[in-house]
Amino acid sequence: MAVDRELLRELPKVDDLLKSDRGLAWLAAYPRRYVLDAVRAVIEGRRSEILLGKSVGVSMDELAPGIETMIKGLCAPSLRPVINATGIVVHTNLGRSALSESAIQNVVEVARGYSNLEYEIDRGARGERYSHITRLLCETTGAEDGLAVNNNAAAVLVAISALARGREVIVSRGELVEIGGSFRIPDVMAQSGAILREVGTTNKTHLRDYEEAISEKTALILKVHQSNYRITGFTEEVPVEELVALGRECNVPVMHDLGSGCLVDLGARAGIHGEPTVRQAVKAGPVVLTFSGDKLLGGPQAGIIVGSRGYLEPIRKHPLLRALRIDKLTLAALEATLRAYIDEDTAIGVIPTLKMLLEPTESVKKRAQRLAAMLNKCISSSAIVRVIEDETYSGGGALPMQKIKSYSVSILPAAAISVNALEERLRLGAPHVIARINGDALLLNLRTVPDSELKALAMRVCEALT
Ligand SMILES: *Cc1c(COP(=O)(O)O)cnc(C)c1O
Repeated sequence: MAVDRELLRELPKVDDLLKSDRGLAWLAAYPRRYVLDAVRAVIEGRRSEILLGKSVGVSMDELAPGIETMIKGLCAPSLRPVINATGIVVHTNLGRSALSESAIQNVVEVARGYSNLEYEIDRGARGERYSHITRLLCETTGAEDGLAVNNNAAAVLVAISALARGREVIVSRGELVEIGGSFRIPDVMAQSGAILREVGTTNKTHLRDYEEAISEKTALILKVHQSNYRITGFTEEVPVEELVALGRECNVPVMHDLGSGCLVDLGARAGIHGEPTVRQAVKAGPVVLTFSGDKLLGGPQAGIIVGSRGYLEPIRKHPLLRALRIDKLTLAALEATLRAYIDEDTAIGVIPTLKMLLEPTESVKKRAQRLAAMLNKCISSSAIVRVIEDETYSGGGALPMQKIKSYSVSILPAAAISVNALEERLRLGAPHVIARINGDALLLNLRTVPDSELKALAMRVCEALT
């Protein structure tokens, strides 16, 4: 195909575009670097198309929309809110837990200026950053002492480094887990300088397996929550109580990585069984327990370490703690989140993760019906909208086998648009909607969509279908 030389000559120069009214408006509104990048990229794109023999528009009017979209894309925040219509409450890829209003408020207050992060107001002297949460951790878990680091992976790493470096840590082969792709117990063990002493088999580990492995080289028995998987069939694991009893006899401390770390009894409250509370886990007697701040606890990303003072002391003094320490904004959110747990009923009323998990199914159904009604007003024949019974999971490595009842709005698009195209439109638009496809239908699971997002969600779906 012939290259249109005339068109190439007509293509505006970068400078001409920048000096045009539009160009000046862009430069006034956006960073110069991004305006230049966008103008250059769009002109270059057109040039390549012309060289391929294509006939394209080259006037300012024809170039401007593409440039503007590109500038806006470059200037938009990369990390931004999405509507989670998957129903998975603790969704690691979507940021795990939403914060309570009081936690958000506390972050804003502390972010705005100086704080007593490491300063004791009463004494007018240097203080400790962990002091802001220690008492709350003790009150809410029943432990003797507590602190927090960057995340639970860090909590496990620093605890094992401080308590078992150069010595053996006994772990059941049924608990050598990998979580979230990069947290693997054997790797964490290697990194900490401790020696992993595997006992038992994948499906069965007995008390005698631990017993036989204990020697003068043993520093710790580690119990790890299986989190995101279950071994079913003929299985056997040793309860922490029995490990603690064995440990007492042999003078070996027991550490428990709880993973999620739930502070309220979900079994008693909602019939969601299988996750012991942190308080119950503390009672079982391990000297150190670790859990996440942003899983079932419903707070910011953090790794919480609670246990006996004597064993937390070397952790506090370990050099890694400085590298893994929690920042003031997280601390502000964590303190406010923990404060809500002083009264359990308050906690389940204000912490979004708990509210979503514990919301009665009937109430989720009503929200689904409201959404369906809103949609039916705007979409007429472009799709069939139905409210259907659905289920979901808590996510975040807790309760992987425990289905939670929910309701979804099912959208079966008419021939004009495929379900995949609909899913993509919802995902790419603003605000982004993350939904799930089931056969020919798109499912919007309402357990994770609060009332406050319902209108925006309805508008997005209507837009996407028309
Ligand atoms: C989730 C999890 C971790 C990692 O916690 P992060 O807070 O994501 O670092 C470690 N151990 C167990 C058992 C877990 O479930």
